[in-house]
Amino acid sequence: MPTPLDWGSSMADENTIQKQLSGSTGGTPAPLEVFTWPPKPAVLDPAEVDALDLSESSHPERSHTRTGDRWAWLKDAEAAWFGVSAVSWREAADRADWNPDAPDSYCPRCGTTAGPFEADADGCAACRCRRLGWSRTVRLGSYQGVLREAVLAGKFTAWRRVCQELGTDLGQAVAQALESAAIDPASIMVCPVATSTRRRLTRGVDHTVILSREVARATGGTLIRALRREYRPPQQRLVASARKQNIAGSFHPRGTACRGLDGRLVVLVDDVRTTGATLSAAARALRGGVKASGGSGVEIWGALVGVTPRSGENRGNS
Ligand SMILES: [Zn+2]
Repeated sequence: MPTPLDWGSSMADENTIQKQLSGSTGGTPAPLEVFTWPPKPAVLDPAEVDALDLSESSHPERSHTRTGDRWAWLKDAEAAWFGVSAVSWREAADRADWNPDAPDSYCPRCGTTAGPFEADADGCAACRCRRLGWSRTVRLGSYQGVLREAVLAGKFTAWRRVCQELGTDLGQAVAQALESAAIDPASIMVCPVATSTRRRLTRGVDHTVILSREVARATGGTLIRALRREYRPPQQRLVASARKQNIAGSFHPRGTACRGLDGRLVVLVDDVRTTGATLSAAARALRGGVKASGGSGVEIWGALVGVTPRSGENRGNS
């Protein structure tokens, strides 16, 4: 039985993180003023952060260097205090003998796990009677086991490297799907499902942008941040029936970014799909943005690291 990699054993445990930062393993907690984690990028003016983000979407390569310089201190801090070299999605996946899902192991429309002959191009039992905002789903795997641990590590502990590696794997899966569909990967637009400014600053990492950047890099597509998102209470805290209402109207087209999407295939990138409410709301805003800018429409795919398993689906470490 492979030994799961220790992601720091404290992915969302602030107490343990504070102990790691202070070098304390027990006894009297060290004074918290030494360091605070997650880091507080709030020292940056939010408007300045937004301006930075916009430049990334317009000129990803040029601004990457600029952004890298700006955030170099954060990467150094990760390496110094958390041993970033020890946290690798690749290593964890190898140890757990994890591999990306084969395209025929899930529904190509909604991404739900499907057995042989349970799904076709029209969908599966879970989605055939539902109107989705997107036409195709590409996923890395079921959101459980080592994949779930990696997503949480990348999302809540500012592990850029984990996000980057997951994004590269997701990009390769998208590239494979594009090839199967005979679509030129250079023609696609890659758009992150936006994170609210408040959540981005709290976490210290914009994980969907990192994922999207790697998907664009792996496919040869163009990264564009066409959406912005209002803060709403976390979907995870809500029952399924309340998620749609909570997320409705929270996404908006960003400036004139949707103008260049008309007639294109847009790959919307997110980490996890549970009910699909978030992806639907993002897709709706994207279509609205294209229509408002005079376009006729877009085709939208969803690219997801993980899809919440069906009831009764194996929740093992794979
Ligand atoms: Zn389906």
